Amino acid sequence: MDEGLREGIGQVAFVDHHVHAPFKRAHEIPLDDFRRPFTEASIPAVWTENIPTLIGYQWMVRELARLLHCEATEDAVLAARNAMAVVPYHRLLADAANLGACYADDLFAAGQCYPIDVWSEVLRRPVERVLRVETFVEQGYAACETLDDALERLTLEITSPARRLVSLKSIAGYRTGLAFDPPSAAQRQAAATAYRDLRDSALSTQHSALFVGRIADKALVDTIVWTALEAAAPQALPMQFHVAFGDDDIIMTKNDPTLMRALFAHEPFRAVPLVLLHCYPFHRQAAYLACTYPNVYADLGLTIPIIGPGAATVLAETLELCPTRQLLASTDGHMEPEFQWFAIFVWRWALARVLGQYVAWDILDGDTALATAHAILHDNALRIYQAEY
Ligand SMILES: [Zn+2]
Repeated sequence: MDEGLREGIGQVAFVDHHVHAPFKRAHEIPLDDFRRPFTEASIPAVWTENIPTLIGYQWMVRELARLLHCEATEDAVLAARNAMAVVPYHRLLADAANLGACYADDLFAAGQCYPIDVWSEVLRRPVERVLRVETFVEQGYAACETLDDALERLTLEITSPARRLVSLKSIAGYRTGLAFDPPSAAQRQAAATAYRDLRDSALSTQHSALFVGRIADKALVDTIVWTALEAAAPQALPMQFHVAFGDDDIIMTKNDPTLMRALFAHEPFRAVPLVLLHCYPFHRQAAYLACTYPNVYADLGLTIPIIGPGAATVLAETLELCPTRQLLASTDGHMEPEFQWFAIFVWRWALARVLGQYVAWDILDGDTALATAHAILHDNALRIYQAEY
């Protein structure tokens, strides 16, 4: 390991361009909740039995034991983190990670997480807002009688400077897949009908009922995404897309980002940076797209912490084709704060190993290797999101 490079990478503030504020609940959590960020599965056996044997998770327990000066066992680490007061614990992790600004999708588990201004105070760091478009439409049923009303409300939210958005985000990958169709009269009609039916069921059912009004109709999702991109284009506002692995309801074959061709081919959308999040196991497809379209960016958030030691391999495979000015680093931190801290730790570890190897092979000089890490961890995000932090 090149110590100078490793230290230099450690000094770059990590701009976390895709993250979720942690849950705002009792700080003292049981073991299951401590493990949960490592899986988006919904079946308890996954975290009660299997996650403890995932190498990436085992690595986090060991690294957290070093930070908290305790024995490297799950029980000891959990007891040590639970014993700390909540704000000092969040700040310890943020400072240890050299965390910079955060761009938070605040409609993940809406209502259960820290509001972004409160989270910003806890972290003592800027937290900017990312708008999850499908969920935003679902939240507008009461105010919007028709699909036209809903799309107008969405456009207003995106174009109003008072909203101070740094990016949009789509979860189409979770809902109907990434093979977006361009607009047509038939699609619009189908979308309007789907919207009316979903709205009717949402407004006539108890709000607590799970999945009521959940938008999972392809014509409707495609219409929302297309409308959002049209609103984003004049301001070159980026749009993030969930790509590939995640919840257990994902159909992986519909999550290959090469299916997004209609968006890449539509000339007016070239103004919009299209950010492919997570990507595993399609990180090579994402890299190919970043190499082929000037406004496509790849990110390995969520992937990097969960695959643990595989992070170096996947980063190297991504860099085979992804120009380094088109690779971004996020954590996809969610639920509890350790995940974000650990993701940043593994990003730095993987960059030091992979770029250090290129220096050792005399492919890059040391200055270029460090500048590359700086771009991936910090500069690329500030440029794309037109952000001050
Ligand atoms: Zn996310």
